Amino acid sequence: MNIIFLGAPGAGKGTQAEIVSDTYGIPTISTGNIIRAALKNGTPMGLKAKSYIDSGALVPDEVVIGIIKDRLAEDDCKNGFILDGFPRTIPQAQALEEMGVPIDRVVDIDVPDEKIAERMSGRRVCKACGSSYHVEYKKPKTEGVCDACGGELVRRVDDAPETVLERLNVYHSQTEPLKAFYAERQKLVTVSGQEDVRDTTALTLKALEDLA
Ligand code: ADP
Ligand code: ZN
Repeated sequence: MNIIFLGAPGAGKGTQAEIVSDTYGIPTISTGNIIRAALKNGTPMGLKAKSYIDSGALVPDEVVIGIIKDRLAEDDCKNGFILDGFPRTIPQAQALEEMGVPIDRVVDIDVPDEKIAERMSGRRVCKACGSSYHVEYKKPKTEGVCDACGGELVRRVDDAPETVLERLNVYHSQTEPLKAFYAERQKLVTVSGQEDVRDTTALTLKALEDLA
């Protein structure tokens, strides 16, 4: 199955994507994680993306489209994949169609703006492997330490409150129109983000059960 997760920054789509990925044994492709890894490794793409990502702006379409094209060509995507954070603009969604990549379902994790700021301020990510946590909603076993790899948990630069507002603006103006785009194609399902991650997961798995 080929699935897209949509939603505002901090809505928890990455967490849901990972769970679905484990459940169905298909890879999650997170453009945010790929870009942050490039940044950390100081590749030319990473250097180009840095100013955009730090200010809460979107990285140019042609850069992320190139990333996705390369990634989807890899072997592990043959039996399906989950896209987390792509597409984020109409031109990106059109590029996916032009590539001839069929999409079975688009899951929109819906969380109101008021809740987003609160969620983002508590978000922490592993410096080493990129796994994400929340100081209240998704605690690691040991405070400040990644369950998966033992790495240090830190706040992302772009999770600073001013930047979060900018990212929300970007989301509403550039990404939200994708809901209509995929609704028109009868692909969209909306999952209402719950306080407890497990409740959201139950709704997400239900929204996908007929595809299994
Ligand atoms: P979140 O879902 O919490 O906003 P991501 O890790 O998906 O975080 O994205 C972080 C940043 O990476 C974005 O603010 C943007 O700068 C860049 N980025 C990720 N995916 C895309 C994309 N599809 N198009 C453009 N920029 C992207
Ligand atoms: Zn880790």
